Amino acid sequence: QGTEPALEVTDLTAGYGPVHALRRVSLTVPAGAVVTVLGGNGAGKSTLLRAVSRTLRFHGGAVVSGTVSCGGRPLDGLPPDRVVAAGVSQVPEGRQVFARMTVEDNLRAGALGRRADRTERAQALRRVHALFPVLADRARQPAGLLSGGEQQMLAVGRALMARPELLLLDEPSLGLAPLMAARIADAIREINGQGTAVLLVEQNAALALRLASRAYVLEVGEVTLSGPAAELAASDEVRRRYLGVV
Ligand code: ATP
Repeated sequence: QGTEPALEVTDLTAGYGPVHALRRVSLTVPAGAVVTVLGGNGAGKSTLLRAVSRTLRFHGGAVVSGTVSCGGRPLDGLPPDRVVAAGVSQVPEGRQVFARMTVEDNLRAGALGRRADRTERAQALRRVHALFPVLADRARQPAGLLSGGEQQMLAVGRALMARPELLLLDEPSLGLAPLMAARIADAIREINGQGTAVLLVEQNAALALRLASRAYVLEVGEVTLSGPAAELAASDEVRRRYLGVV
């Protein structure tokens, strides 16, 4: 907490065998900020989030060099569960909710990552239910029966159950109708307003640039542009390549 950045990535190089998906990527998420990483298909966005959450090796990849720290604490070499315990939770691409488990049990699973007493768990659950009332209404239903947007809410809620200081969001708007994407965006704003820093990876650049204070553009594994989100949103290159303005 305090003035240490929520996330500091320095010279991160990572890949899959001989394929380097990230080359010397450096970025900072200031405490309490929303930062976004834009980039097309295969730019390395998911690899970046997995390198931070240390889940990369489950996808056949590995960090080659570079460092990652959260709130001034190095995450290098930690297993994924220790990263969660250190205050970093990831919402994976494609939600990955446990379809046959109930909504409530999915949320409980999210709380396992971090030591907490009953009061803290109950508080975390109240926070999630306040953000996404549908998750309270449908607590006893299998998660697989939820709509895509509701499953995204569940994936975010599950990550919040570990009471993270930094939330990693991988394409939260992917496949959602515009209205549902806007609701997820509202929720991200509210979560951030409650003090959680966010690193948001998105193909929907317009949505991401509205939410973030800073942005980075990743192209073929390298950061090619970075700056205040408003500046990037106004730049010709970003407008042409990511906002579809001709
Ligand atoms: P997308 O939005 O399409 O998921 P991305 O920006 O998240 O793209 P990554 O998934 O990080 O990109 O992929 C970066 C590069 O690494 C791509 O060239 C991809 O083909 C490769 N890659 C990703 N996952 C693996 C894997 N498990 N094994 C081998 N190569 C991979």
